[in-house]
Amino acid sequence: MSGRKGGRARRAHARPPKRSRKAAGRPAYWVAALAVAAVAIVVAILVWVLKPAVPSFDGRRALSDVNTLVDFGPRVPGTAGHAAGFEFLRARLDTLADQLSVQPVYLPLPNGDTLNGTNLIASFNLNPARNARVMLGAHWDSRPWADRDPDPTRRGEPVPGANDGASGVVVLLEMARLLHADPPEIGVDILLFDLEDAGADSTVPFAVGSEQFAAENEHYRPTFGIVVDMVCDAELRLPREGNSHQAARRVVDMVWAAADDVGADAFLDEVGGSVTDDHVPFLRRGIPVIDVIHSPFPDYWHTTADTPEKCSAESLEEVGGVIARVIYSQ
Ligand SMILES: [Zn+2]
Repeated sequence: MSGRKGGRARRAHARPPKRSRKAAGRPAYWVAALAVAAVAIVVAILVWVLKPAVPSFDGRRALSDVNTLVDFGPRVPGTAGHAAGFEFLRARLDTLADQLSVQPVYLPLPNGDTLNGTNLIASFNLNPARNARVMLGAHWDSRPWADRDPDPTRRGEPVPGANDGASGVVVLLEMARLLHADPPEIGVDILLFDLEDAGADSTVPFAVGSEQFAAENEHYRPTFGIVVDMVCDAELRLPREGNSHQAARRVVDMVWAAADDVGADAFLDEVGGSVTDDHVPFLRRGIPVIDVIHSPFPDYWHTTADTPEKCSAESLEEVGGVIARVIYSQ
């Protein structure tokens, strides 16, 4: 009896705790919801704070360097314009790079003459926090003959080389300024190649400076590389270059994804033609170097009309912004 009573009493006493558990459930729910919201806010703040800080690329400064280079005159080996252009590049990189070296390169011509040129190699972060190096390249010479000029009488004149040559160089000069002011975690080498654009039919090759660099530096194996060429046109069109897409797809995907991130509309998600440029000597050696190049080529390509008026600060800034994004995201 007493046992049953006690049992009832225990059951009777058992009810209120049930109610109190229900009542306690509401504050627990709100506490959990607030905790989840707080964690979400903290995560969002951390993502914002920790995202790579990308220094800002100045397209107007880059465009003013195009004008400076073209004002020296065509950068044809053996001319005053070439010598002045070289000295300008050497002096600029000397103030910005951690190490600057030069490499003489040469190209024998069928008529017995030899074109003598010089590659510039500017290195940043010789002992980087992360054991990785990225190569950025462009050719600084300009074509000795405007052999595509619509006026046959002008086809022996040199190409001014505002887009074809200077545009890639000035993107890398501006990158050099960023790398100097704000060293990235990786090492970066800026290579300015000479003798890219003196090729003619099958007897005289293109991309001579980069070929001789790759041949004489067989132990240089950057993690990846990006060559920029013809990147200033106001109507810039940058499909994925064919050789790069075939041989260094991972790098192309990464660069085009960075373009997508920053809204660089000139980078088109389509595969364009295959171009022989300064990336090819590296691809041949199994080094993943891609080419970012306007395609199809503008109609003033290899004519006397390749002048700074064809160039846009916005286009230079778009390309530079993508490269900065890639470098500072590594
Ligand atoms: Zn060219």
